[in-house]
Amino acid sequence: MDEFSLINRFFKSIPHQRKDVVFGIGDDAACLEIPDGMQLLVSCDTLVENVHFLGEWDAYDIACKAVMVNVSDIAAMGGTPCWLTLALTLPELNQQWLQRFSQGLHDSLSHYNIALIGGDTTRGPLSMTLTIHGMAPKGTALRRSAAVPGDKIYVSGELGGAALAVANLTRQDIDEHDRARLMQKLLHPVPRIDLGPYLRTYANAAIDISDGLSADLNHICEESQVGACLFLQNIPVHPLIKKYHGDNALDFALSGGDDYELCFTVAPQHEEQLLMSIKQQGLSCYPIGMIEKQLGLRAKRIDGDIVPLEVLGYRHFS
Ligand code: ADP
Ligand code: MG
Repeated sequence: MDEFSLINRFFKSIPHQRKDVVFGIGDDAACLEIPDGMQLLVSCDTLVENVHFLGEWDAYDIACKAVMVNVSDIAAMGGTPCWLTLALTLPELNQQWLQRFSQGLHDSLSHYNIALIGGDTTRGPLSMTLTIHGMAPKGTALRRSAAVPGDKIYVSGELGGAALAVANLTRQDIDEHDRARLMQKLLHPVPRIDLGPYLRTYANAAIDISDGLSADLNHICEESQVGACLFLQNIPVHPLIKKYHGDNALDFALSGGDDYELCFTVAPQHEEQLLMSIKQQGLSCYPIGMIEKQLGLRAKRIDGDIVPLEVLGYRHFS
């Protein structure tokens, strides 16, 4: 089997239902139709073996994770994911691995009605770069730079579960059932596409939490030239963190990455409508702080004291 039969067998064969793909895999470029009134959102993410995933993981999970972290970037913009390209570098041609990888791609893409429209296949150390293309109605995409003093800060779900999984990959004293639950958080994050329509109508700024709440909220603050105060009491900490790391539970929630929940800000006059429409869909979110004029991050502790908050999160090259 060579490069081309590999592409045909494992990637060109992945079906999709999208009518806006004029043509996809097989030409030098894909050709796509963008409806009037919509804007294109483009984002790319690379995953490298032993940095973003372990080589020993099931290739099915690696593919799902690669798709989900890309979909999450479109979710953070309030958009809908549509198309994906995949640049895949493989150390060898392992058909069993490719079969699992291709199945993971198929299942995660079909879940979000995304078409695989092209890519590149090369030989080298295992890594993959995915470029996702999404759409949002003209002028509605959410920005990091749109937070305003007085905005309430929200997160879309519990934090720290994925970081807890990473911290405990080698720990033996974790209950089998809990371990499975944590690995699910790490391997199959759920991008918050479901919040898109409400956030692009009512929210000001948004970001997905890939590096950790404090680091990602800090991106919103820097881009918006504002500061923030977090109410530590309100941070939704994953329940298993309290069970296994009661003492530093908040550290996991504040600086743990890989959860892919959204952090967003809402002006007070839109808060009620946002919460009502989210609730009507059976969704929820947690108020965790305020955007303020004073630059920098602060934390309001449970005793009421306000202290500076260290910005901690994952950084390559640091
Ligand atoms: P080129 O020579 O123009 O770079 P390739 O021979 O690399 O094209 O790829 C042939 C076709 O297969 C192209 O349409 C390309 O987009 C697609 N393709 C290559 N690798 C992948 C992959 N890993 N996943 C999806 N499509 C791929
Ligand atoms: Mg090529």
